[in-house]
This record gives sequence, structure tokens and C-alpha cells, in this order.
Amino acid sequence: EAKKAGRARSIIFNATLKTAAINTKRLADEILAGLENDEFFAFYQPQITARSHQLAGVEALVRWNHPEHGILSPAAFITTAETIGAIARIDSAVLKHASRQHQIWRENNVNVPRIAVNLSAQRLSDETLIKAIQEHKFEPGVLSFEFVESISFDEPDAKIDEIAEQIRAMGIDIEIDDFGTGYASITSLLSLSPKRLKVDRQLVQPVTTDPRQRRLVGSIVEIGRSLGIEIIAEGVETIEQVEILERLGCDIFQGYLFSKPMPGDQLAQFAQEKPWLRLFQDQLH
Ligand code: C2E
Ligand code: MG
Ligand code: MG
Ligand code: MG
Repeated sequence: EAKKAGRARSIIFNATLKTAAINTKRLADEILAGLENDEFFAFYQPQITARSHQLAGVEALVRWNHPEHGILSPAAFITTAETIGAIARIDSAVLKHASRQHQIWRENNVNVPRIAVNLSAQRLSDETLIKAIQEHKFEPGVLSFEFVESISFDEPDAKIDEIAEQIRAMGIDIEIDDFGTGYASITSLLSLSPKRLKVDRQLVQPVTTDPRQRRLVGSIVEIGRSLGIEIIAEGVETIEQVEILERLGCDIFQGYLFSKPMPGDQLAQFAQEKPWLRLFQDQLH
């Protein structure tokens, strides 16, 4: 009986695996076609400064305008894109859109001081990265790159240091993304000389309910401070979180409280109407 059940399970398992393999193959083909057809673009999520309540900048987040499924989030395709070696082309598409979008904002007198673009950490050891950056026009000081902490930051690597140095020399800031989760490599705060550190929302959100979490974030802020690194709190969803994070010394907020990621033209309206000012005003009463 048990053997029979086992066999049945393994048939089901194999069938599932086979479907998964077919789906991955199809997804891979669709990603490559999507790159050819220019289906990858970016949404923009605003970042607000803690002290002066101004627009600090935006984060560009990739979206896929899929011919059948509509607009897809990175969770649906980033892993596969990395596996098939297509991530560099996706990142380039985002850079291109961000550069064009910033130009459009400028032409319309919309002041967006900074655009942060996500890059896979593996690109830090990729010699073609610098050439890819040079293909897109950004005024100096506007662009920054977010890298997720990874194992590779841990190992002293002359090539990574060299590419990071070249990036900084081009006037592009380096930021550490999702700090405090994944492969926490605190040494990256020294080796990459980041301008900013983004505290992951898993650490940010519990600050209202858990005093230990609060102290943890407070300590991260202190480490950042002592190294001259600005702190961005990500995943901010409530005004209570803002109040505590402000007290802890965070410099910049990003999250659904202010806005979800949105198309470039909507961001323009957001930047001009400044709806976040109302949030801070209500906070005072
Ligand atoms: P990330 O860089 O940490 O981006 C923040 C993610 O958190 C975004 O999801 C954003 O929509 C979401 N988020 C922002 N505020 C809140 C909030 O208040 N609450 C909650 N629950 N979520 C919030 P998204 O756009 O799905 O991006 C997911 C991840 O995909 C990004 O995480 C980033 O690691 C990666 N990614 C996005 N765009 C690119 C890209 O162009 N290239 C590469 N290589 N990776 C990208
Ligand atoms: Mg990011
Ligand atoms: Mg992040
Ligand atoms: Mg994240």
C-alpha cells in the first residue's frame, strides 16, 4: 500500500516538476521576447525627507507590460531572468526608462532630485556595467544604485571595489538595499562606501509594537550616523511608524503611507501637489 502511495506521489511530483520546467522555459522565452519588444519599464515610488518634508527622490521599480497578463511585478520574473542571464538587459531597460523619465520631468519643471535604480549585486563584478551606465544620460548627482547585500560583498574582492569606485567617480551614489535581512554583511558598509542604507521593512514595521525592534533600528541608525551614511526606512505604512522612526533618527521615508509605486506621469502630479504635507500636518494636531 505504502509503496503504491509513494509511486502515485512520485508520478504527481514528476508531473508537477515537468509542468514547472515547461512553465520556466515558456517564461524564459517570454522574457527574451519581452526584451526585444520593449515590454519592461518602471514605476516610481517617492521618498520623503524626515526633517524638511520634501521629495528626496524616487525609486525606480521594474514592471513588465506582459501581452497577456498585463502589468507584472518583479516577483513574477526576476528569479527566472537572473537564471537565464537576462537580468543585465532588464536593468538596462529600467535605466533607459528612468533616464528618459527624468528628462520629461525636467522639461515639465517637475523637481525630482534623485532616482534610485536597483541592480543585482552580481553586476558589481561585471565589467560591462560601466559601459552600460554610460549609454544613458543622467545629470551628475541624480542617479543612485541600490544593491542588495549578498555573500559576494563579504569576500574582499578587488574587482568589486574597483567597479564601486568607478561608479562613485561617475557621480553615482551607492546604496545598500534591504539592510538587516538576507546575508547581513556589515562589512559592506566599509567596503562599498555607500551613501545611504535602506533599512528593510521587516525591521521597520515592528518598531511601533516591539521595544527590542525599536532599539535594533536605533542602533542601525547610530552605526550609519557614525560612518556618515544616510538612513532610509522602507515599507513605512503608518504615521505611528513615521513618528518613531523620526525620533530614532531616520533621514528618509519610503512606503505605502506616502504612495505605492506609480507611473511617471502620476509621480509628476504627486510631486507638484505634495499630498504628503497633509500627513505631517495632521501629525502635529
Ligand atoms: P526593493 O528594492 O526592496 O523594493 C521595495 C519593494 O517593496 C517594492 O516591491 C515596493 O513596491 C515594495 N514596497 C514599498 N513600500 C511598501 C510598503 O509600505 N509596504 C509593502 N508591503 N511593500 C512596500 P516591488 O516593486 O515588487 O519590487 C520587489 C523587488 O524587486 C525590489 O525590492 C528589488 O529587489 C527588485 N527589483 C525591482 N526593480 C528591479 C530592477 O529594475 N532590477 C533589479 N535587479 N531588481 C529589481
Ligand atoms: Mg530597492
Ligand atoms: Mg528595499
Ligand atoms: Mg525588498
